[in-house]
Amino acid sequence: MRLQDKVAVVTGAASGIGEEIARTFAREGAKVVIADRDLAGAEAVAEAMNAAGLRALGIAMDVTDESQVEAGMAKAVETFGRLDVLVSNAGIQIVAPLDAFEFAKWQRLLAVHLDGAFLTTRAALRPMYRQGGGTVIYMGSVHSKEASVLKAPYVTAKHGLIGLAKVVAKEGAAHGVRANVICPGYVRTPLVDRQIPEQARDLGLSPEEVVSKVMLKDTVDGQFTTVEDVAQVALFLASFESNALTGQSLVVSHGWFMQ
Ligand code: NAD
Repeated sequence: MRLQDKVAVVTGAASGIGEEIARTFAREGAKVVIADRDLAGAEAVAEAMNAAGLRALGIAMDVTDESQVEAGMAKAVETFGRLDVLVSNAGIQIVAPLDAFEFAKWQRLLAVHLDGAFLTTRAALRPMYRQGGGTVIYMGSVHSKEASVLKAPYVTAKHGLIGLAKVVAKEGAAHGVRANVICPGYVRTPLVDRQIPEQARDLGLSPEEVVSKVMLKDTVDGQFTTVEDVAQVALFLASFESNALTGQSLVVSHGWFMQ
């Protein structure tokens, strides 16, 4: 068990990548808080995990809402007694050409990814500093390092997470806190499924062409990255023992982006 009795908060864990990370951590012995703006979804995931003999708690947390983040993190610590790992994963996607991007949508996307990362990080660092250690993992993207058309705020936000992780790595070091970023390629989750028809419309392609000519075009093998692939990298980062691995960003993308 690589996370025996550790406590983890995973945001956006009612679905997709976050849900798989929550299950993977719990199977390795962690107590996991499923934090999502979708309370019913968070509770359903937690209930299914508990029924399977794992330990989980579902809570409502809109990561853009300061009071919900503070209350949710306090509830996590009160319920499980400590906080060892934060996975700042909640995210959305909105695609449109830059010259027609609505300002409100730009602001909404940056708020979920960047305000959310800041607010959850700040709330998590306090118990981690008190304990003298912890790990923060940000869900970046290949778009933390590379750009694509139609995704201006997403690319901007995902690049920004690398900067935040580096600051957390520097400030957190004295307290035993590490911070790293996972940068996945395309993973077949609801977030991606919603984009396929939108990109097909905006780029004048068929849905199949969006998958083969846009999403997987530059991979080495034409394969989607899976939620399990990303969860294994999260487990590796969460269970790494020392400050040797901090301030880094790790790309998991079937070779779409190579450093
Ligand atoms: P998903 O849509 O399956 O899950 C996202 C979850 O985040 C949902 O449960 C949703 O309710 C929650 N959420 C959204 N806004 C929230 C908010 N304001 N507060 C709290 N929860 C909120 O998507 P996913 O593909 O699993 O994405 C998870 C993360 O992975 C995102 O940050 C995304 O940008 C990133 N990512 C996804 C891919 C991909 O191809 N799917 C690739 C790289 C990075």
